[in-house]
Amino acid sequence: MEALQRSYGVLGKSAFTPGFGVEDPVVRERVRVAPRVEPFRVSSSARHLRTRESGGLTWRHVGGNEEVKGGRDARSVTTRAALLRGLGGLLKSGYVLRHHEIVDEHTAVENTGDVIEKLKNGFKNFKKTEYNQKPDLYAKLAEGQEPKVMMITCADSRVCPTMLHGLEAGEAFIVRNVANLVPPCEGSGEHHGTSAAIEFAVTVLQVDRIVVMGHSNCGGIRALMTRDVYSGDFVGSWVRIGLPAKKKTLSLMSGKPFHEQCTFCEQEAVNVSLANLLTFPFIEERVKAGKLHIYGMHYDFVEGQLTSWEIEHEEVPVHA
Ligand SMILES: [Zn+2]
Repeated sequence: MEALQRSYGVLGKSAFTPGFGVEDPVVRERVRVAPRVEPFRVSSSARHLRTRESGGLTWRHVGGNEEVKGGRDARSVTTRAALLRGLGGLLKSGYVLRHHEIVDEHTAVENTGDVIEKLKNGFKNFKKTEYNQKPDLYAKLAEGQEPKVMMITCADSRVCPTMLHGLEAGEAFIVRNVANLVPPCEGSGEHHGTSAAIEFAVTVLQVDRIVVMGHSNCGGIRALMTRDVYSGDFVGSWVRIGLPAKKKTLSLMSGKPFHEQCTFCEQEAVNVSLANLLTFPFIEERVKAGKLHIYGMHYDFVEGQLTSWEIEHEEVPVHA
């Protein structure tokens, strides 16, 4: 706590303007803004609109909302106070929101080995060495995204597609889930996160490549291979998608060591996902038209190699 208070102390309470409506002194104490922006006080008579130029930025206070415009850091944000109240309002009784802060390259962050500090320090480094060095790229990305490829990979911490493939921000639309599975196109249920991402990537962003990438030592595939029951928990009902791969593995890899069966199943489960991609009408239509290409990959981090393959459409001859 002392470290946090020291951290906040760099800018201190004065960096936050009470005029923006934070009544809660605890919240007010823990909120601060980026140092380059000098906040200003909104008088009590300013009910709807006040603007002021400050440090190349224009701060605009409209009713309960605050916007910051101007300069290279142009952005529009809701009032931090309103945001905090909103976030707090979503929590059930007994929980409070603490330690809300904005981090940039100037923020003082301790380095005790705590992983959240690592995340903040990592961002500080990114801001200095990447974001600030590529103003054109990030200005373009602020306008929108035009990724050419969608990747579906595992949530496993050892699989990091951005690092593995040298991807830059804006290059790939990535979904990560347990065992990199794609469910078939189906109307039942309401929370189809992976299907929603696929629909958005294909129909809105219009990516022309989809890659499903499995990996070695996948815990999700191991769960698929070892379970007898696929209901009663979220993992079970999710990895059930890969059952056709398990069936094929047990058929073709019978008698093989378990780790070899899993390696086979990891790749076969990718094929199940590729087949499931084709159950989405907007995907099959584009694949047939040659506008969308779907690929399988398997990243083996034990051997340090990547295997890649593509599914091609070919006309099936019609026999009389
Ligand atoms: Zn995995």
